[in-house]
Amino acid sequence: MIFEVLTIFPEIIENYLSSAIMKRAEQADVTHFHVRNIRDFALDKHHTTDDMPFGGGPGMVMKAEPVSAAIEFASSAHAPEKLPVVYLSPQGQTWNQALAREFSAMPGIILLCGRYEGLDERIIEKHVDLEISVGDYVLTGGELGALIMIDSITRLLPGVLGNSDSAQQDSFSEDGLLDCPHYTRPEFWNEMRVPEVLMSGHHAKIKEWRRQMSLLRTKSRRPDMWKNIESVLSKEDKKLLEIDTN
Ligand code: SAM
Repeated sequence: MIFEVLTIFPEIIENYLSSAIMKRAEQADVTHFHVRNIRDFALDKHHTTDDMPFGGGPGMVMKAEPVSAAIEFASSAHAPEKLPVVYLSPQGQTWNQALAREFSAMPGIILLCGRYEGLDERIIEKHVDLEISVGDYVLTGGELGALIMIDSITRLLPGVLGNSDSAQQDSFSEDGLLDCPHYTRPEFWNEMRVPEVLMSGHHAKIKEWRRQMSLLRTKSRRPDMWKNIESVLSKEDKKLLEIDTN
């Protein structure tokens, strides 16, 4: 999958992309990252990418010409493929695992990181296909949002995670549940013991316990998710919910 990232702080993106799983994905040819500095597309010798807002007020606004030129460069680099342009914005649709799954089936995306007060609105009108927010709070720039998108998509791409860290049992997987609790050695720690069933070697019972924990956790922690799951529970799941866990 192709990730084009347009930013005035490429080093923020590049640092993260050189770490563990992101690096492994690129080395395996599963992802292709292209990080472009919007400053390189500025028209003046000072590489200016922002200017004062029309109408007055605080802050600066990202200029249309360099951002537009960066988008056109990134788009044409993959023609005839038409990669969607996504602007990271607190005003966009909220990112979640279902969207990550949807995006992981695409050939690529162009991620546009804003700064200051944001982009000149005309860039959005001309180029942006979708605005994505990573939550109802305001960040200083779109880079963290772009990395959140890249990370959550990349770990869903075939061959990126090994068996040991498979995404299938993660929270928000297609079954709509939270993950179960996990334990590792030592068996006793701080007067706390690993649940006996996990030490039993009984695979069917372990699977059942994990499912039960996922159900109970989702029910108690995320009533909003539980609302959708409750009506489609299987007979087996209903039975698991009735078993006393103490
Ligand atoms: N004035 C803008 C507003 O209130 O909608 C906020 C601008 S913010 C300080 C600068 C940049 O950070 C934005 O252009 C956007 O790219 C990014 N950003 C901030 N919060 C974000 C969020 N929740 N999700 C995604 N990107 C965000």
